[in-house]
Parts: sequence; C-alpha cells; structure tokens
Amino acid sequence: MSLDPAPLVQTAGLTKSFGSRHDLFGRPRLLVRAVDDVSLSIARGETLGLVGESGCGKSTLGNLLIRLEDADNGEVVFDGQRLTDLNERELRRLRRRFQIIFQDPQSSLDPRMTVRAIVAEPLTVAGWSDRAKIAERVAFVLETVGLGREQMSRFPHEFSGGQRQRIAIARALTINPDFLVLDEPTSALDVSVQAQVLNLLKELQERFSLTYLFISHNMAVIRYMSDRIAVMYLGRTLEVAPSASLFAAPRHPYTRTLLQAIPSVVRREPAGWELPIIEGDPPSQTSPPPGCHFHPRCPLRMPECSVTQPALAQVGLDHSAACLLYRVAPQE
Ligand code: SF4
Repeated sequence: MSLDPAPLVQTAGLTKSFGSRHDLFGRPRLLVRAVDDVSLSIARGETLGLVGESGCGKSTLGNLLIRLEDADNGEVVFDGQRLTDLNERELRRLRRRFQIIFQDPQSSLDPRMTVRAIVAEPLTVAGWSDRAKIAERVAFVLETVGLGREQMSRFPHEFSGGQRQRIAIARALTINPDFLVLDEPTSALDVSVQAQVLNLLKELQERFSLTYLFISHNMAVIRYMSDRIAVMYLGRTLEVAPSASLFAAPRHPYTRTLLQAIPSVVRREPAGWELPIIEGDPPSQTSPPPGCHFHPRCPLRMPECSVTQPALAQVGLDHSAACLLYRVAPQE
C-alpha cells in the first residue's frame, strides 16, 4: 500500500506514571514511569510496530493514543485534533474513528452476549436504532472477517480462540474506524492460527485503508506486519526505523543485542520468534538507572552513559536512535 505521508496520529512528549506519590501513612512512594517522553507519528495507512520487553510501557502507550488513559504530560494529535482539547461529547464522536483489539478475546468478549449483540454494540452506542440496518451491518462485518451470518445467535464460548479474535475484529470494524491499536492480537493464539489472523489484518488494512499501531513482543510478527518499528525500553523509545532498515542495520545497542541473541535459523521462522532474555540485571521500573536507562546492560557503554540521558536523534534516512554513540559533534 502506498502511504500518505501526512500523519494520522502524532504524539509529543507523552508521559504517564502510575502509583501515588505517598502511601496511606504519607510516606513517599516510588512511581512507575510507564511512558516517558515519547514523541512519534503514524502515517495514514501505515503500520507502526511497537516492540519491547514485557512491562516496557507498550500497552500504556497504546491506551494513551486513543485516550483510554489520560497522559500526565504531552499531547496526542489525531487527524489534526489535540485529544486533550476535546470535551466528552467531541471525544465520544471521535472515538468512532479509533478502536482497540486486545490480546485475549476470551476476556474482551462478554460471555453472556450473543455474537450479534457483541458486534452490534458499537452501533447502538453510536445511536443506530434501525434493527434491519444493524443486522445488515453485523452480517457484513462478520462475513468480512470470515464468519457466516448464521453464527450470529451463538455465544463466544462456542468458538475457537482464532474465531473469537475474528469476532473482536468484526466488532472493531463495525463503525468503520480509521485507526486500530492492536495490542498483542495474536499472542494468545496457536501458531497456525496466528498466521491466519495476521493475514486477515493485512487484508482488512488494504481493503479499508486502516492505520495500525501493532504491539508485540514477537520480533517475527512485528517484522511481518510493520512498515516502521519503534523499539521501547523502560517507557522510552530507543530506536525508530523502517522495518527493513531496523533488521538490516540496527543502530541502538539494545536493538542490536536483541537481534544478535536470536539464532539466524530462528530469524527466518515467521512465528515463535520471541524476544530473547538479554544479559544483565533486569531494570527496575520504579528506579530506572540514571543517564541512559540501558547502560547497566550495554556492551558499548561509556563513562558518561550513566550520567547523560540520550534523546532520539537522526542516524539515517527516516531512522533515529537514542544513544550517545550518535551524538552530533558541536560545531567549532
Ligand atoms: Fe549504550 Fe551509552 Fe548508547 Fe546507552 S548511550 S545505548 S549505554 S552506548
């Protein structure tokens, strides 16, 4: 698909922490900074892959992009509108244009509702009342995701995991969104089913001109799905690049360490390429290392890496990395 370079989604300095500053007895408590000063953009029709270890802030960032959670600082701009400027009514209207698919369809689908009611719910929330039109739309989206209209009266437990995820995708498509946050959408599925759902997502993107934020901890899945990839570590984006450049010439030592730790034979496998465990102590989310957060595990660290926090800087065409190795020398 040819991409429209105008971004559909943009963030600037997005920051989100969890936990209160004081416990019940007024003693100071450490905050978890889940998302830390993240600025990125997603072009219309693009898939931006977001990869990183568990707990690095990927899902929180996805939630912030569609205002399922509010940021502490920074802004999200969706199709030219700052989400923080919108009142409840305006936000509700805009919400029709973005949807989220979660990892586990078992828990995201109400087991007491029929497929018809689940898929129709966004339409009724949006004010649709014509039952015939709702039934027609539900049948259309179910067929679009590969399920027949005869399945409408059944309940989620009567379907396989892959079919349940198709129901969740159908529900997200019902009101014709522009942007989907796909939060580990195939991680709970068998490997054979994963490929079918990934291909379905690609087909739907092409057919309906969708824009995706695709979150995963599986590098093969991220590579298969993404036009560009952002690598996250302790709430910060350490590297952002087109998918091909990131895999051919990763620049950040963290990305390099991840890719080097994956055997080349496994690299060619389209499934099961999980993030490897890398050496060094796992970082603390409540008290991240000073300077570059990756410095305790970095094979290339320099003395100043424990003092200075690097910002994302351009290191190639449409390729940026946050590492002091790529500092621009000051002009004489
Ligand atoms: Fe390694 Fe220093 Fe670069 Fe951090 S800034 S990734 S510690 S070289």
